[in-house]
Parts: sequence; structure tokens; C-alpha cells
Amino acid sequence: MKRIAVLTSGGDSPGMNAAARAVVRKSIYEGIEIFGINYGYAGMVAGDIFPLKVASVGDKIQRGGTFLYSARYPEFATSKGQLAGIKQLKKHEIEGVVVIGGDGSYHGAMRLTEHGFPAIGIPGTIDNDIPGTDYTVGFDTAVNIALDALDRLRDTATSHVRTFVVEVMGHGAGDIALWTGVASGADDIIIPEHNFNINKIVARVRAGHNRGKKHTLIVLAEGVMGAHEFAKKMKDAGYKSDLRVSVLGHIQRGGSPTVRDRVLASRFGAFAVELLKTGKGGLAVGIKNEKLVAADIIETLTNHKHKADLSLYELNHQLSI
Ligand code: ATP
Repeated sequence: MKRIAVLTSGGDSPGMNAAARAVVRKSIYEGIEIFGINYGYAGMVAGDIFPLKVASVGDKIQRGGTFLYSARYPEFATSKGQLAGIKQLKKHEIEGVVVIGGDGSYHGAMRLTEHGFPAIGIPGTIDNDIPGTDYTVGFDTAVNIALDALDRLRDTATSHVRTFVVEVMGHGAGDIALWTGVASGADDIIIPEHNFNINKIVARVRAGHNRGKKHTLIVLAEGVMGAHEFAKKMKDAGYKSDLRVSVLGHIQRGGSPTVRDRVLASRFGAFAVELLKTGKGGLAVGIKNEKLVAADIIETLTNHKHKADLSLYELNHQLSI
């Protein structure tokens, strides 16, 4: 391929810029012309497509968010939208596209591939919920931000002998809650992949108080329910002690990416270009057991589902006695 494009789509994640930068620099290094598309699939259909140069991605590697902007564009789930996007790409003589985004964005890339237009997906989401990879770009940064918040809440919880229910992001996947829960020494982790018993949780927290524990942290994935609702359930189950709620929200999505996310993003970006260069499209790139992998995007999305590592759940249960 002689000319390719890159876009970011869906919820932004720290490290998307580093991934886009790698796509741009590696393309130029390989003698491929590289174009940017603003606002994800919305920009593709609108023709918001422009050439990128080496300097276009200068001073971007350390920045959170995405300089290509992102958008939700449900119209791209229709054939009409997809074909309109391909028409724009062809108008600019673009032969392949790199899509950096989450599960929905991957579906867009899959549709492009089904229409015969080579697309490659780079997993960019804080949720870590994409099949075909152990880690997504942004997850490491998000869990480190959440962990920093948990550590701060522990300080104040200890001072006042309080219990905190801390809501972290994660609609369908509990990875953020699991990792920050284990790393912060949480007393309980509530995730969509595992049921919970509110009476047992209250009993465990009380037992902690009785042996002199000063702080209690419960990490809750937003996909289960809101933190206020969870706190009410605890109260309804007879929990009478000082109980506070903290919702971390979009703080988890911003900020400078960690070294792990920057390196992962750089590797994914360069790898995607290598694949397109040899004419390979229709792939989802990922990292498995620390090795870069590329799998058929249609097969990956159709037959595989992300699974949270429930051994972390069990580990936390054992360590938070
Ligand atoms: P995150 O999970 O981090 O929010 P995401 O990529 O899953 O990111 P979505 O909003 O689900 O975010 O998807 C991003 C965009 O991808 C959508 O706005 C739409 O343009 C496109 N898209 C989503 N689902 C499909 C689909 N089934 N077919 C084609 N395009 C899709």
C-alpha cells in the first residue's frame, strides 16, 4: 500500500496519541503516505481527511486524549454509512485504514473489511475489554489513576475510621475494578462478572471493624450499579457505620499515558503499518503473553469474548481477610 489513514473512535483513552504517532512515523519511515481522519467514523463519512507529516505528531506522545478527536457516530453501523465512508477514502486514494478504538470501533473496522476495504484495529480503550489482546492502550494509565485515588481515599478513611465505596469505570468488564482493587488492598471488589452477597459484605466489613481495622475500601465497577445505590444496599442490610461514596468518573480517562501504555501504543502502531504495508488488512492487533499478535478481525469479534481474570478476584478475597 502506498497511502493509508488513521482514526481514533469511541471513548478516548490515554495512549491513543502515542498509537497514532507511531502509525504516522512508521508510515513515513516506510515511504507510505499517511492521512489523518478527524472525529472517527463521523469524519470519515464527512471527508474530514488530511495529510499528516512527521511534525504533525511532534509533542503528542505524552498527551492524553486524542489529537484526531473522537466521536460516537451510530450511522456507521449501517451499510449506507460504511459505503459513504469507503467512498471518501477512495476519493483520497487511501488503500487501508488503522482504527484505534474500543469494541464498537472494532465493529466498524470489521464492516469496512467485509466491504472489501482493508482495516486494522488497534485496541484503544481504558476498559481492557477487547477480545484478541491481553491489554488495551489506556488501561494501565486508567488503573494507575484509579489506584492513586484509592490510596488517597485510604488516608482519609483511616483518619476518620470510614468505609468508602469507590465507583470506577467499566460497564461490561470488571478489569479496572479488579486491578485497582488488588493493588489498593480493597476489602471487596464488585464486578459484573461475579455476583455478590450484600449481607456477607456487611458482615466482612463489620468483622474488620471489630478487629480494629480503621479503613474499609470497596471498589465497585460502574456496570454493576452506581456507588450511591450500592451504599444504600449496605445500609438496608444493616450497616450503620460511617459510609461514604466516591465516583471517580472521567478523571480515569485523561492525563499523560504511563510508560507501559506509551510503549504498547508505539508497538501496536508500528505493527499495524507493517501489516498494511504487506497488503494485509482485516486484522485485529494485540499483545498476548508479551508478544505482538494479529488475528482475523471478523473471527476475533464473532467467536471470542474478553474474559476478566477472575483469579485476581479470588486472590483479593483471600488477601482481604
Ligand atoms: P469504548 O468502549 O471505549 O467506549 P468503543 O469503540 O466501543 O469505545 P462505541 O461508541 O461503541 O465506542 O463505538 C465507536 C463508534 O464505532 C460508533 O460511534 C460507531 O461509529 C462505530 N460502531 C459501533 N458499533 C458499530 C457496528 N456494529 N458497526 C459499525 N460501526 C460501529
